[in-house]
Amino acid sequence: MSIHTNHLPTDALQELDARHHLHPFTAGNELASKGARVIKSAQGVYLTDSEGEEILDAMSGLWCVNIGYGREELADAAARQMRELPYYNTFFQTTHVPALTLAARIAEFTPNDLNHVFFASGGSEANDTNIRLVRHYWALQNKPQKNIIISRRNAYHGSSLGSGSLGGMKPMHAQGGMPIPDIVHIDQPDWWSEGGDMSPDDFGRERAAQLRLAIEQYGEDRVAAFIAEPVQGAGGVIVPPASYWPEIQAICDEHEILLIADEVICGFGRTANWFGSETYDIRPDVMTIAKGLSSGYAPVGASIVTDSVADVINSGGEFNHGYTYSGHPVACAVALENLRILQEEKIVERVREQTAPYLASRWQELAEHPLVGEAKSIGLLGSIALTPDKSSRASFSAEAGTVGKICREHCFASQMVMRHVYDRMVISPPLIITQSEIDILMERVTNALDKTLDTLHKEGLMKAAGG
Ligand SMILES: *Cc1c(COP(=O)(O)O)cnc(C)c1O
Repeated sequence: MSIHTNHLPTDALQELDARHHLHPFTAGNELASKGARVIKSAQGVYLTDSEGEEILDAMSGLWCVNIGYGREELADAAARQMRELPYYNTFFQTTHVPALTLAARIAEFTPNDLNHVFFASGGSEANDTNIRLVRHYWALQNKPQKNIIISRRNAYHGSSLGSGSLGGMKPMHAQGGMPIPDIVHIDQPDWWSEGGDMSPDDFGRERAAQLRLAIEQYGEDRVAAFIAEPVQGAGGVIVPPASYWPEIQAICDEHEILLIADEVICGFGRTANWFGSETYDIRPDVMTIAKGLSSGYAPVGASIVTDSVADVINSGGEFNHGYTYSGHPVACAVALENLRILQEEKIVERVREQTAPYLASRWQELAEHPLVGEAKSIGLLGSIALTPDKSSRASFSAEAGTVGKICREHCFASQMVMRHVYDRMVISPPLIITQSEIDILMERVTNALDKTLDTLHKEGLMKAAGG
C-alpha cells in the first residue's frame, strides 16, 4: 500500500481509514458514515486537504505547530540526526549530545531555578512522570503518605491513565476506570459559566480558596502537589480572573506542597511570554512542557523541576522510571532547531508587541455578534462563549455541545479550523500568523457565526436552557 495510497481519490482513502484506523477522540460510527477529512500537506498557517482545498489552521494542529508548517530547517535537522545517531537511550548512565544540549537550552529559557529536565514523548507521559516524581519526592523525605494531587474539574493534562486522572474531564473519567486513587479535583475559574452573580475577581478568589479548603480537608501531611494549566486549553481556553493566580500562589507559599504548572499549551510563547508562568507571575516547582517545544514536528515532552526538587530526587538512588524514547535524539534535534528559530526570529516578541494586541482588539469585536457572550483572548489564544441570551449568560436548551458542533461545521465549510469545547469556540493559531492572516481569520469566524445563527433560527435552537 505504502505511499501510493496518497494518490487514491478521497473516498477510497476515507474508506480505508474507516476500515482499519481507530481514531483518538472520534466517534467511530460517524467516521464510517461521513469519512474523515484527509489532510495532505501544509505551509505556513494553511493546510491542504485531499480535495485541494486550502484551510486556515486556527488551531495549529492541536495547539502545537507554533512556528507554522513547512520549515525546511526542522526537516534537515531531523535528517542530519537520523544519519548521525538515529537512536540511543539515556538509561543506565548514558547520554548523547542532542538530549544534553536540549536539556541545557530548556533550562536557559525556563524561569527561576527550573533547571532539570526529564524527557518524555509528549505531555501525557510527562504528567505521568510528574505523578510518580512528586510522590517519590515526598517519600524520600519520609512522607510516603503525602501522595494526594489536587487538580481541577475540566482541566486537561493528557489521556493516559495517570494524566487522564489528573485531568478533570467527565466524559474521559466515564470510560476505562479513571481517576486512579488519591487525585482530588476542585472547581475551575470559569466565571462566564459558573460565576453566577459574583464579580469576576470575587469569583476568582473564591475558586482559588477551594485549594486552601481542600488542603485543610485532606490535611497538609497528605497533599503532595497542586497541578494546573496557567490557562486551561482543551477545557475551552478559560482565561482566569486576574485575582485567581495571585491567590493560588499565596496558598501554595503558605503550605508545604509542590506547584506543578502544566505549560504544554502555554509554554513557548502562546500567552505572549515564553511561559504562562511569567504571564501570571507563577513560581512552579515542576513544569510540564510538550507541544510547542518542537512545534509538533516531532513527539517530545518533558517534566522540568527546580534545583531543590532535583536535589531530593538525586539523593535517593535510582528513580525507577523512564521511557524508551526519553530524550530521543531525533526529537531533541528537531526541538533544538525549533527553539533556535523561535529565538532568532524573535517570534515571541513579535507576538507580544504586534499580533497578540492586534488579535485582542479584533477578537473583542466578536462580542458584538448576537450569538457571542464573552470574547476573551490572551496572547494567541482566543475563545468565545456562544449563548442564546447574553444578558443572563444563558446556556442553550439543546444538549451542551450541539451548537458548538454546528458552528465547527460552518467553520470547516468556511475554510477554517476552529475547535469547539461544548458551546465555546476556541482558537490557537500558529505564532507566525500575520496581521493580514488574522484579518482573514476574523472574516471566516464572522461568516461561520452568521451561518450558525441562521441554522439555529431555522432549527429552533436559539433557546435558553430552563427558559
Ligand atoms: C495536550 C496536553 C497534554 C497532553 O499532551 P500529549 O502530548 O497529547 O500527551 C497535557 N497537558 C496539556 C495542558 C495539554 O494541552
